[in-house]
Amino acid sequence: MSKDWKTRTKLVHEGIRRSQYGEVSEAIFLTQGFVYDSAEQAAQRFEKAGDDEFIYARYGNPTVRMFEERIAALEGAEDAFATASGMAAVNAALTSMLRAGDHVVSARALFGSCLYILEEVLTRYGVEVTFVDGTDLDQWRAAVRPGTKAVFLESMSNPTLEVIDLPAVAEIAHGVGAKVVVDNVFSTPVFSRALELGADVVVYSATKHIDGQGRALGGVVLGTREYIRKTLEPYLKHTGGAMSPFTAWLMLKGLETLDLRVRAQAAGALAIAGALEGHPKLGRVLYPGLASHPQHALAMRQLEKGGTVVAFEVQGGQDAAFRFLNALRIVVISNNLGDAKSIITHPTTTTHQRLTDDQRAALGITPGLVRLSVGIEDAEDLIADLMQALEQA
Ligand SMILES: *Cc1c(COP(=O)(O)O)cnc(C)c1O
Repeated sequence: MSKDWKTRTKLVHEGIRRSQYGEVSEAIFLTQGFVYDSAEQAAQRFEKAGDDEFIYARYGNPTVRMFEERIAALEGAEDAFATASGMAAVNAALTSMLRAGDHVVSARALFGSCLYILEEVLTRYGVEVTFVDGTDLDQWRAAVRPGTKAVFLESMSNPTLEVIDLPAVAEIAHGVGAKVVVDNVFSTPVFSRALELGADVVVYSATKHIDGQGRALGGVVLGTREYIRKTLEPYLKHTGGAMSPFTAWLMLKGLETLDLRVRAQAAGALAIAGALEGHPKLGRVLYPGLASHPQHALAMRQLEKGGTVVAFEVQGGQDAAFRFLNALRIVVISNNLGDAKSIITHPTTTTHQRLTDDQRAALGITPGLVRLSVGIEDAEDLIADLMQALEQA
């Protein structure tokens, strides 16, 4: 495929493999294994499988490979490995590169399951983890040391949408030889060029914008060919986190419309954030695309747009927030994000329920805070829905 293709062309054509039937839509190779022409060929493939030679679906599959090549082309990554979920991707990205005695520095504001891997799993196997406020570069500088093997961060935090200065953190990490692993979900593959900005490994939950239609769990790890094939692949091959071919097909179809959807969602999010800001029933309205966002300038440098999520505080705490959620007619109450449907979440009682009051307070998660993932509906309809529900808050 051509290196000169622009994003939308790559998202439709990159990685395609056509069978002898010349199908237009990518085929679903729903097969666990592959037949060899001869015993010699089987032996040779087990010794060293070529680029388009498959052995077993836990190792790789043609439909999965199409998805991996397409997303790698979008990210400008040398290679990619698709996984059964976003968490399988985060776990494999970190566990495959670490061993007992290694040190990791991580931003504190993390998706709950990412926090579990860093706090509970890695430490159980002798990896030491230091948590920092990801937006405070002095804390990163103070925490890294010669034994630091990796730093981990979500480039935009959930749900308060703090943006981490990726090139600055990468410079600090690379100064001690640590790899930079970025969970890039909130920045989206459309707006973020994390590898260009200094990340060594980028991880996505494909469940979010890449599927974007609420159908399946999936994940992907992107990086250099050396890292993906020598470090990550052996770990994933043998521990079983592979993506299913059917999921890969859904994700391929998701990629075709990813750029269109995410740009429409971001435009809607900006319009909604602007309409909500200053509303008498609201406190803070957090959206990196608004000039009032504390890291607006950084977000515009790093992301081009403010993303697809808006967080805001309903005055009157949890009761008022619940009245607001229950009065919505278009926006649905759920906990996914990046979906074509607009989805609203009350983090205190759902995604961040397991944290203590103090931990939530430290992350800026107040009882009135809600997180809105903006879908592809007409923004005027969404604004009208939000406004009528606020009347009832
Ligand atoms: C959803 C999410 C994950 C986990 O992805 P799954 O596909 O649900 O396993 C990890 N990190 C972030 C930032 C997420 O939003």
